[in-house]
Amino acid sequence: MRRKLAAGNWKMNGNAADLSELQALSHMHAAPAVDILICPPATLIHRAKEKVLGGNIQIGGQDCHAANSGAHTGDISAQMLADAGASAVILGHSERREDHGEQNEDVRAKSIAAMNGGLKAIICVGESLEQREAANTLDIIGGQMSGSIPDQATGENLIVAYEPIWAIGTGKVPTLDEIGQVHDFIRARLERRFGEGVGRSVRLLYGGSVKPSNAAEIFAVSNVDGALVGGASLKADDFSGIIQAL
Ligand code: 13P
Repeated sequence: MRRKLAAGNWKMNGNAADLSELQALSHMHAAPAVDILICPPATLIHRAKEKVLGGNIQIGGQDCHAANSGAHTGDISAQMLADAGASAVILGHSERREDHGEQNEDVRAKSIAAMNGGLKAIICVGESLEQREAANTLDIIGGQMSGSIPDQATGENLIVAYEPIWAIGTGKVPTLDEIGQVHDFIRARLERRFGEGVGRSVRLLYGGSVKPSNAAEIFAVSNVDGALVGGASLKADDFSGIIQAL
């Protein structure tokens, strides 16, 4: 059985004062029946870790470099994230692919570094509106998966997040059928490449305008094992509503 996961991506939001939201969330879910992960900006990882009760909420990063250390001004390695208290890292988010020109091979190199550093890699895939309208969604996602996911992936070190770009921060959500079609496709691809055992054990998250009001119906879709949440992860009450829907 795959354990459900509610993951929050704070993106470039949050200062020390906002850790009160994390602390409140931690108290609301002292012994959660699902996994909870919050990925704050890197500046807050260490302090975030100190705010949560005995590990009931995991802390993650939003990106890492492919190398362990070296002359890469401004970058952070997977080892550094782990050292700061992270247990996971989001990789290949569409905002990084867009803002920093990250290609599938970059995401794969970063994922290898993350997995070798003991972090779970949450690899993001998803189509643009143009690609969906041209009926290219599954081709795009298949290409992103084969290019970004390293051969060493397992159910322990890999999580795949399906985030249609046009649904991020827009309030627009694909139909439940559309979400199911993509998640079933991702599952089938993983099983084909890694075998049934590994393929069935990888958790698949949906991301894009998930809110307390739509979370339950999305979580009922086949092969949806949780969510990667942006805006609604910033406030404890909102994110708690999503966790409860799992
Ligand atoms: P929103 O939940 O704000 O749409 O963001 C989704 C996302 O990009 C999470 O990584």
